[in-house]
Amino acid sequence: MDFEAMMKMPQVAEIGYNTYVINEYGLDAMFLIVGDEKALLIDTGTGVFDLPMLLKTLTDKPVQVVLTHGHPDHAGAIGWFDEVYAHPDDFEMAQRLSYEGRRIYAKSILRMNPNAPITADYTVRFEKQPKLLPLFEGETIDLGGRHVMVFETPGHTPGGLSFLDVRERICITGDACNGNTLLLSFGGEPHPKQTLSTLQKTAEKLISLEPLFDRNYNGHVGYGGSAFCLPQPYSVSRDMKSLCEDLLAGNEKPEEQSFDIGGKEGKSYHALRGAAGIRYTDAAAK
Ligand SMILES: [Zn+2]
Repeated sequence: MDFEAMMKMPQVAEIGYNTYVINEYGLDAMFLIVGDEKALLIDTGTGVFDLPMLLKTLTDKPVQVVLTHGHPDHAGAIGWFDEVYAHPDDFEMAQRLSYEGRRIYAKSILRMNPNAPITADYTVRFEKQPKLLPLFEGETIDLGGRHVMVFETPGHTPGGLSFLDVRERICITGDACNGNTLLLSFGGEPHPKQTLSTLQKTAEKLISLEPLFDRNYNGHVGYGGSAFCLPQPYSVSRDMKSLCEDLLAGNEKPEEQSFDIGGKEGKSYHALRGAAGIRYTDAAAK
């Protein structure tokens, strides 16, 4: 890699032995977990840089690719790969992603990140799409001397998955439960799993997994240009569970807002508690 190309690569932080987070300029975060036999890439990002070239600098092992969910900032660069594992409920979403949609997303987030060495013009056009392969809760990915457990954490999307790295005791949750968990369907029909009650069950599942992990990373470390790749506050799942309960019971009144993401507008509700935040539509309020 020449010097100029290297300067434009996204920031990589080592968060454990052979464990990396790739901060795609504040657009999203990807994770690379390297075992003795192979490596696991969790999410592919929006697709605004040469991801295979970066992976070569981090590992010489074959890379298996999995998705936390099918949104453009996580599944946008699946076109680099031949095979990608995801929950089947998010297959259609990942297959529907367009160059234009990914570019609009990159443009809106990079605007908040004045230090990014790239622009939305770096959005890669992919010629082909990979074969999508199904992945479900209960499966364990064996990387050779290192295991990653798979859990279904729907709500933000119907096919949301979280990954638990047993050795480093790290849980990688994508956008399933964080300070800005969106339950919005972006113009399409809302899926029956994109609801507050589904999100509450996801938070309860993450609480039940707490004995197995010390750190919980969401899919947006470095959001909006923040330089730091820190895990979420440990309280986030408990805050989310109680917030969902109170919203469903009418004990918490959300703030009414309008949203405009990727050119799609609508009315939404916003509620915050501790480390947890939710933005949702009428369709998700059940
Ligand atoms: Zn998302």
